[in-house]
Amino acid sequence: MNLRIVYRLLLTAASLVISASAAEHHGAASNFNPGIRPDTADALATEKSAEEAWFSHLKVLAGEELKGRKTGTPEFLRAAEYVESQFKEIGLKPAAVDGYRQPVGFHTLQIDTEKSSLRLADANGITTELKVGTEAILSANRRGPVAIDAPLVFAGHGLVVPSVGVDDLKGLDLRGKVAVIFAGAPAVVHGPLKAYYRSTAIRWKYLKAAGAIGVITIAEPRVSQNGRSEPGLRVRPVDQLSDPALNPLDGAQVIATIPAASAAGLFNGSPHTYEELAAIAKEGKTPPRFPLAVKLEANTVTQEIASYEAPNVVGLLAGRDHKLRNEYVVLTAHLDHLGVGKPENGDPIYHGAMDNAVGIASLIETAKALSAGERPKRSIIFIAFTGEEEGELGSQFYARYPTVPRSRIVAELNMDMYLPLFPLRFL
Ligand SMILES: [Zn+2]
Repeated sequence: MNLRIVYRLLLTAASLVISASAAEHHGAASNFNPGIRPDTADALATEKSAEEAWFSHLKVLAGEELKGRKTGTPEFLRAAEYVESQFKEIGLKPAAVDGYRQPVGFHTLQIDTEKSSLRLADANGITTELKVGTEAILSANRRGPVAIDAPLVFAGHGLVVPSVGVDDLKGLDLRGKVAVIFAGAPAVVHGPLKAYYRSTAIRWKYLKAAGAIGVITIAEPRVSQNGRSEPGLRVRPVDQLSDPALNPLDGAQVIATIPAASAAGLFNGSPHTYEELAAIAKEGKTPPRFPLAVKLEANTVTQEIASYEAPNVVGLLAGRDHKLRNEYVVLTAHLDHLGVGKPENGDPIYHGAMDNAVGIASLIETAKALSAGERPKRSIIFIAFTGEEEGELGSQFYARYPTVPRSRIVAELNMDMYLPLFPLRFL
């Protein structure tokens, strides 16, 4: 890896912050510096020393001893201590609840596949069992055992995307019912829209508002590289934020995923078969939506297998302008990685140098660079996030509980796994 190139990316992050704080000049003569720096001997010497410091952070964070920094492990806490000590040395102010630390609680939940069940019952009361773990994957429910007996409604992709005129829930009565949806999206919902709306949490928000009490997602058939469909989905423990206010599936009595291969039975006795509907969806269109003839009997039993705490680390550089210092630019990177697992090339540690020790090293060196010279006008918040690999949980927690007034946050720049491809010296 060419460290000079990487460091120039770091300078870019710093110059973005400088640009943000210079933006109020509105045409007046200014010392606006877009981040293009001449290669003077002094400038190069500064770059060189920052480069070395940057690499030293990388070596610590991605080294053997921190064992891949998995959230909740002692090694993650050591990584947090490292960032904290760097923030302190640079002179950043502690900007969390407990000094530099914003405590974040997690718990690990797992479905008890033996005790959980999922059945479809037709109008004559004849039931078909779907085997939990292979034919149906239940999502953990933190409320403990939840039994449900409810009608089902097919709701297309279950999407409400007003900007492109998609409303799959329009005209459907979902009150007290469980929605059955396709995992994908019609062609009109693409790119960033799809990236945002595809999550169960966002779909659930609209389904819940429409009165639904649960959702069954029919997974898109997975096709492996040799062209064969892959059977089943994996059942694994999930880590969630302990804070009940941050449960994205709040109010759901059942959340399940059914692989395409087991989906046909949901449509027994209905005007359309699964195959017909899947063919329409495959063309990028929205299939018809209608109440299903079978109802659902499900019993979700969840075990809590662990609970732990792992903090966000938050430092503040106060702005120099007595008015603008009350506005905040937030600079972030996630500190955690995947820890230890199945060995790759004989090494069980997932070091996470690119994902995301590079981001944290840049966060630290950017803090150092901005603290050393004339400080920016606005205040800068630096955050090393916890729980990113578990689903961006640390950042969700901070967004919900920011340590400065939310309305005063004017920008957020996140650094994750950037690729040092060329010397980017300005944007
Ligand atoms: Zn990452």
